[in-house]
Amino acid sequence: MSAPRRVVLATGNAGKQRELAALLAPLGIEVILQTSLGISSAEETGTTFEANALLKARHAARESRLPALADDSGLEVDALGGRPGVWSARYAGPDATDEANNAKLLVELAGVPDERRSARYRCVIAFVREADDAAPLVAEGAWEGRIGQAPQGTGGFGYDPLFWPQGQSVTAAQMDAAAKNAVSHRGLALAQLLRKLS
Ligand code: IMP
Repeated sequence: MSAPRRVVLATGNAGKQRELAALLAPLGIEVILQTSLGISSAEETGTTFEANALLKARHAARESRLPALADDSGLEVDALGGRPGVWSARYAGPDATDEANNAKLLVELAGVPDERRSARYRCVIAFVREADDAAPLVAEGAWEGRIGQAPQGTGGFGYDPLFWPQGQSVTAAQMDAAAKNAVSHRGLALAQLLRKLS
């Protein structure tokens, strides 16, 4: 299977759009945002990243009649038994802001010492040529780190101001966008997907 020329990106999340579009641009793949086609978000009824990535990609392909790419991702915090996980976007409620999610995370981790604040971002990316594609491509990536005691930095999105990646002396929100893409769960998942595509 070779890489498509045009692909619909099945996300309304501005942070993901920015990162995925930047990663795909050098490959000559034209990214069409599902929002620009008036396609609404699929309901995320799955309980795994893979299930949600696939249902989002199939929904976008069905509505657009184009190949579609979707990412489902989230943060797993060990001290919280892996929460918020697939519910990361909705951690503080159905339409929670990033700030509300971060505030809830800090409350839930109150009193937990640094050495027990380990966490990781996970990302699963699904690619379908058409809605009923019987052989979808699925790739995944993980990015290890730990949760800080207070937000720091203004870049990135989501939990980035609280996420201290392993081997970095800054939060993900303090990293340059290209540097984050080079090592992040999303960058790794997309690289794996592109290897499968070629
Ligand atoms: P999804 O749209 O259901 O996949 O939700 C993903 C959620 O996980 C986002 O809304 C963020 O809260 C969180 N998340 C995923 N990737 C990142 C990242 O790269 N930085 C910060 N938060 C992320």
